[in-house]
Amino acid sequence: MTSSRRMTERGSPSLVTERRSIDLGGITVDLLRIGTFWSDAGAIFGPVPQETWAPMVASELDARSRLLQALNILHVSDASGAVLLETGAVPAGAQVSDADTDSRSAREALVSAGFDVERIASIVPSHLHRDHAGGLVDQQGAAAFANAQIVAPQREIAAVASGSLRARAAYDVPGLTRLFSATAPRSFDGTLELTPTITLRRLGGHTPGSQATIVRGRERTLLFLGDLFMRPWQANPRWVTAYDDEAWVSVDAKASIFAEAAAGEWLVVMSHEVQTPVGRIVADRDRFRFVSE
Ligand SMILES: [Zn+2]
Repeated sequence: MTSSRRMTERGSPSLVTERRSIDLGGITVDLLRIGTFWSDAGAIFGPVPQETWAPMVASELDARSRLLQALNILHVSDASGAVLLETGAVPAGAQVSDADTDSRSAREALVSAGFDVERIASIVPSHLHRDHAGGLVDQQGAAAFANAQIVAPQREIAAVASGSLRARAAYDVPGLTRLFSATAPRSFDGTLELTPTITLRRLGGHTPGSQATIVRGRERTLLFLGDLFMRPWQANPRWVTAYDDEAWVSVDAKASIFAEAAAGEWLVVMSHEVQTPVGRIVADRDRFRFVSE
C-alpha cells in the first residue's frame, strides 16, 4: 500500500483506490480507501495532553500540526447480496482534490474496482457526519445507490433533525433532510439483525446514533466502529476525540465492545487509519491496544 509518508512527501495524495480483501468464511469484506483528508491532531486526541501524544505522531504531523486521515469504506458480500459500510465525503459524480481533501466518491471507487453496485441492498454509515454520509447522494442530491436502503439508528436520524448548532456544523442537514424525505431510511433502536451474518448495534458516543457493525463469518468475526475507533491510539477507551458528542458514552461503549472483540479475537477495521487499518484488539492492563494483522 502507498504509505502516508510517501503521499505527504509528494504533496498530493494519489487518488488510486487502495483495496484489501478479507475472507471471513462464507462472507467477504473488501476494504477500500477512497481518499484522504487532513485533520487537526489535537482534535483527534481530544482530552489527551499534547506532550503525551505529540511524540507518538511526530513523524506524521504536517507544518500545521495536522494528521493525514483515510476515508475507508467496506463492501461486505456473500452469496445472498452485498452491504456497504460508509460512503466517504464526496457525492457520486464528484471528485475533490484540494489542500485539505483528496477523494473520489464511493460509487465511482466501487465501480472502478469492479464491484456491481446494483447488488448493494443496504448502506450502513457508521454515523451521518459529512465524511461518512457524503456519498449517499449524487451531485443533484438524489440517492447515489438507487437500489439500496440506508440503515441508521433512530437516534442518529433525530440528531440530524435536532436543529442543534453543533449538528448543523457536523451534518449536511439540508442534504440529508431532502434525501430522507425522498427515500425514508430504515431506522432501528438498540440492535438490528440486518442479515443472518450482519448485526448492527447502536452505541452512541461519537454521535448520538453511532453504530457498530459486526460481521460474522464461519471463521472470523469483523467489527467496524466508525469514528469510535478511527485511529489505533483510541484502543485506550479513555482516548476519545474532541469530535465525540458524548465522551462518557464513548469511553464505556468502547471498553465494553473492545472486551468482546478481544475475547473473540475479532478483526477490527478503523475508519480513518491510513497505514494499518485492519487488526485485533488485545487487553492491556485497564485498557486495550491495537495489533495490526
Ligand atoms: Zn470521520
